Amino acid sequence: MLTSKIFCGILFFMNTNKNTDNEMMNTQVKKVDAMHPDMDIMREAGEIIRQGGLVGFPTETVYGLGADALLPEGAKRIYAAKGRPSDNPLIVHIADFEALKKITSYIPPQAKALADAFWPGPLTMIFQKSDAVPYETTGGLDTVAVRMPSHPTALALIREGGGYIAAPSANTSGRPSPTLAEHVYEDLKGKIPMILDGGAVGIGIESTIIDLSEEIPMILRPGYITKEMLSEVIGEVKDDPGFASADPNVHPKAPGMKYRHYAPSADYTIYKGDEVKVAEKIIELANEKADEGKITGIITADQHLHMYQGRLNNRIKVVSLGDLEKPETVANHLFKALRDFDKVDTEFIFGEAFSEKNVGQAIMNRLTKAAGYNIIDV
Ligand code: AMP
Ligand code: MG
Repeated sequence: MLTSKIFCGILFFMNTNKNTDNEMMNTQVKKVDAMHPDMDIMREAGEIIRQGGLVGFPTETVYGLGADALLPEGAKRIYAAKGRPSDNPLIVHIADFEALKKITSYIPPQAKALADAFWPGPLTMIFQKSDAVPYETTGGLDTVAVRMPSHPTALALIREGGGYIAAPSANTSGRPSPTLAEHVYEDLKGKIPMILDGGAVGIGIESTIIDLSEEIPMILRPGYITKEMLSEVIGEVKDDPGFASADPNVHPKAPGMKYRHYAPSADYTIYKGDEVKVAEKIIELANEKADEGKITGIITADQHLHMYQGRLNNRIKVVSLGDLEKPETVANHLFKALRDFDKVDTEFIFGEAFSEKNVGQAIMNRLTKAAGYNIIDV
């Protein structure tokens, strides 16, 4: 009797520690001081990475879901946890320029110049990969995307985790990218063992991706580092026409850009044109939906809030993404705003378009995808 109890106890113990990928696991959320993370916590997180496990962590762009980039099973776990199509390659994060040598077969001089200008920071570059990088990480491609983040917690995790962390954004595939640890928890609780909570991220949209293998370097995904900033360092830079196209026959060079992305559950439409006319149109349509009893939201900016005041059904949730004079504030609030609309089960979102100048290009790229290319000229 006693022996069978002990035996059952041992079986139970073994079972709870097996943690096969389909089993729910306990997700620990560890608060860290973003600028000076506790090194005991970082070592513990690094150990999970070294063992092939996953850790959610803050970067200056959005929260990442990290695994050892050189272990095939690390990448596989990322795809499984996110529900991400496995042909959508992962960005490898490094903590120093020297680390690039092991994972690439050639470093063009332009890459050195861009790294000097923007690393550590929100720029990802595409290189020919070396044999050290498994195809699981690159989604079957012979190229590898690499970035050196500037966030101290991210850098500490990379160092403690062995130097190479594959990390996409730490959201369920298709949902808005996470800018707070609680967004990561919302999407990935029970699927990953640890989330490092370093508070709100600084930038709020993903890195700019540049491909230097083209004759004229090509931006595959717009981000905080703009075309103008890149051109100042390496001369002419062009956009991949694929990332902005609603046409499914135009294939973006970054495989991930073809997927529907950042989408709130609501039916979201963007209105573009003269700002007064846009506000009038949004007021008319939002009131119509709210009067029908639909849960309705509006996306605007600080400078335009006054146009809506006193004109709306009071159940309509009006959200300003930020100050039009400081577009980085808009970038910073965009994904959280989309998630917050989901939290209250918003059914319809009527949104203003934003300027596409400089970082505005990245902002409109994310909003356009979130709206499923639903843009109406007013
Ligand atoms: P995420 O990490 O979720 O921000 O997405 C990473 C983005 O980088 C996706 O759009 C990928 O398709 C893109 N990407 C990663 N590696 C490569 C590569 N080798 N070539 C082109 N695009 C890449
Ligand atoms: Mg992503």
